[in-house]
Amino acid sequence: MTHILIAEDEPRISAFVSRGLKAAGYQTTVVEDGAVALDIALSGTVDLLLLDVGLPTIDGFEVLRRLHGQGSALPVIMLTARSSTRDTVAGLDAGASDYVTKPFKFDELLARVRSRLRTSAAPSESIPVTLAVGDVALDMLSRRATVMGREIELSAREFALAEQFLRHPGQVMSREQLLSRVWGLDFDPGSNVVDVYVRYLRAKFGAERISTVRGAGYRWD
Ligand code: CA
Repeated sequence: MTHILIAEDEPRISAFVSRGLKAAGYQTTVVEDGAVALDIALSGTVDLLLLDVGLPTIDGFEVLRRLHGQGSALPVIMLTARSSTRDTVAGLDAGASDYVTKPFKFDELLARVRSRLRTSAAPSESIPVTLAVGDVALDMLSRRATVMGREIELSAREFALAEQFLRHPGQVMSREQLLSRVWGLDFDPGSNVVDVYVRYLRAKFGAERISTVRGAGYRWD
């Protein structure tokens, strides 16, 4: 049985996550302390780590650094505080596979967990699942993006946003649709985060690929 370690010091959140994961067929272990989490993560008995940033003894970033320092390839999903972009970037830089922003919908977390487990279990000869529109391709297993075969570095959110566009090429996507699909319920409807990330994607893929449709949203052309 797939074993997931939950390192989270808020009992309300860890209970919610643990209950959901068990219902989805996973075995879970909950710890509230960073050093304990690190010991278990290094023991080779777990398949994935859900890691809160703010933990007693050693924090989530330090747990991650030490894991990587020991050569661990354990998939790690960080649970970061709401809209703390700096945390997120630091977490991804420190080698987290992915992150989920609190508060999150359980389904969103479960989708990330499944995706991470699939990626880490995928044999190297497996055929990648690719989403391609024109000369842009997203490899859904390795989470890599290419333009004309050239690799583009994307953050997890940028990848998720690009995925939404490539699943609906030529269609206008409203900001609300993109917010709810990429950022989940955890967003301020007045937020300009979609506009900011569209700007990032334009800079990476070429400005001409995403049109602004006034009063409606954005369209991948
Ligand atoms: Ca915490």
